[in-house]
Amino acid sequence: MSAPQFAVTQNPAPTSPERRAEILADPGFGRYMTDHMATIRWTAGRGWHDFEVKPYGPLVLDPSSMVLHYGQEIFEGLKAYRQPDGSVASFRPDRNAARFQGSARRLAMPELPEELFLASLSALLSVDSEWVPAAGGEDSLYLRPFMIATEVGLGVRPSSEYLYAVLASPAGPYFAGGVKPMDVWLETTYTRSALGGTGEAKCGGNYAASLLPQSIGAEHGCAQVAYLDAEERIWIDEMGSNNLFFVFTAGDAVELVTPDLRGAVLAGITRDSLLAIAEDMGIKVVERRIQGQEWLGGAASGVLTEAFGCGTAAVITPIGTVKHDGGSVTMGDGQPGPVTMALRERLTAVQRGSAPDLHGWMYPLVGAPASV
Ligand SMILES: *Cc1c(COP(=O)(O)O)cnc(C)c1O
Repeated sequence: MSAPQFAVTQNPAPTSPERRAEILADPGFGRYMTDHMATIRWTAGRGWHDFEVKPYGPLVLDPSSMVLHYGQEIFEGLKAYRQPDGSVASFRPDRNAARFQGSARRLAMPELPEELFLASLSALLSVDSEWVPAAGGEDSLYLRPFMIATEVGLGVRPSSEYLYAVLASPAGPYFAGGVKPMDVWLETTYTRSALGGTGEAKCGGNYAASLLPQSIGAEHGCAQVAYLDAEERIWIDEMGSNNLFFVFTAGDAVELVTPDLRGAVLAGITRDSLLAIAEDMGIKVVERRIQGQEWLGGAASGVLTEAFGCGTAAVITPIGTVKHDGGSVTMGDGQPGPVTMALRERLTAVQRGSAPDLHGWMYPLVGAPASV
């Protein structure tokens, strides 16, 4: 399918440049939306149609739309970064497109072709590019593609109609005032993902199920929850919205370990990129199963020197202390470790366009402004 033309309807009352500048000075995360959204509809027998960019605003949904009852919803998260030459690029959006297809398959939804996914991002950015923060910092424009079942009816079966949409929301630096470690709750009662379940898919229901353990973690002062496998309850999978990495140090030898995906871990694009970047930097990387006890014991004995979570929103978040029912263990001195910070610096530099893009990861969405 060749890239379609999106019919553009300009927002008749867009945000004023003054107000936008105010928002971009302190956008936070997910608080403000841009003036437009891109949408595509899918209908059985007709396929993808109605390619539109239109004013951001409420959706009209029949109360018996299937998504509201059985949760047929999937989403993605990626960012657009202003480059030093003024152009706008995103990071590996083809991987988000492929993952969106995988999520759609698991939820019995139609698979949006990669070129339509990419075209929807370009179409939205072509009208809202002024919402992409200036180059040089860690600010970005967060993009949220999602798809919902819109057929009206209460029968439990795949919907025959879907709405795909992309929203955009300016995002400030995740760590205002420097990278700070977070504490993590090692959850032993609730699990996130079972083999054969939906843990590999980015579907809203996974996040709904994570909110209770998340609030239990918060009661223990933890910002995130680390989950064990559902079958044996000993192996570490990942966190609620971040993949996990561990750094083992023995003298000069450093080894970066991340749990293998095993069919139950969300295949993070940040995770995949860090595996490649670590290799570029000469760091040994290993994907293997790792037990919760190895994390706690390794940190206690000092062989496991660093741990961090990774995902598009925060890129890398160092873990200070891991807490669990039986106590807590701090990684090293509790401060962000050198391997963690070197990887973070390298990846954010590629995204900002200030380090060479050795792997061809950057994808242009909007060209540089014509010079005057
Ligand atoms: C989105 C997500 C991640 C991170 O994926 P990225 O592609 O790196 O943003 C990790 N774990 C879960 C459960 C997620 O939903």
